[in-house]
Amino acid sequence: MNSVLFVGTSDAFGAGGRRQSAYLLRGESGTVLLDCGATTLTGLSALGVEREEIDLISISHFHADHFSGIPSFILASTYEDRRKKPLFIAGPIGIEDRIRKASSILGHPINNANRHFQLNFIELVAGAHYSIGPATLTPFATYHPPEVKPHGFVVSISKTQVAYSGDTGWFGELPSKVAGSDLFICECTQLEPNYPYHLSLDELSDNSHKFDCGRLILSHLGSAMRSQSEHRGFEIADDGLLVNL
Ligand SMILES: [Zn+2]
Ligand SMILES: [Zn+2]
Repeated sequence: MNSVLFVGTSDAFGAGGRRQSAYLLRGESGTVLLDCGATTLTGLSALGVEREEIDLISISHFHADHFSGIPSFILASTYEDRRKKPLFIAGPIGIEDRIRKASSILGHPINNANRHFQLNFIELVAGAHYSIGPATLTPFATYHPPEVKPHGFVVSISKTQVAYSGDTGWFGELPSKVAGSDLFICECTQLEPNYPYHLSLDELSDNSHKFDCGRLILSHLGSAMRSQSEHRGFEIADDGLLVNL
């Protein structure tokens, strides 16, 4: 792993004028995009990232701010980029059906006749290990509405490990799931634990001593988190942040 580019760092609602969740992991073996919201194509373009560079898109759960950009990504890859290189899309069980239906509902069904690249869907199950394209993925279950099949990931590329919480409320096993990572991208939507399915700065402060990661950066920031000037020693993300590892 060489770097992580924070493409989008807001909550579901674009707090602070920022983009929805998306993180670009680059290594010698290839490039992985973690999550792809409605604003992700705009972000990639603004940051000068070619879509064709991306080998694997991995989706944490079926909330719109994490996967609704994929129909446009496939459409642009087919007609605008005339992509040739295979694309892997990994996500919770049902990922292919969900993406195909979403593409149809949004007006651009996936067209196999005009597509000149392999489109490979991979279903992920928590606790298993997957070698997909340039990366190794270990998904873990998180505490978020169960109907959206929520997961976080530990991703290894080129001997570097990045952990990502996806969306989650606090659960006791979280520190052990991400232990030993070079970077942990951790959601922190709110200041106080008002809504149990998202993390708060209060909970992370109380449990910060339990994390054993090279670097921990808070993201998926809601409006209250964003407007706060001090974050009790935590590093917070912003769109366009580049972290070299
Ligand atoms: Zn979200
Ligand atoms: Zn969510």
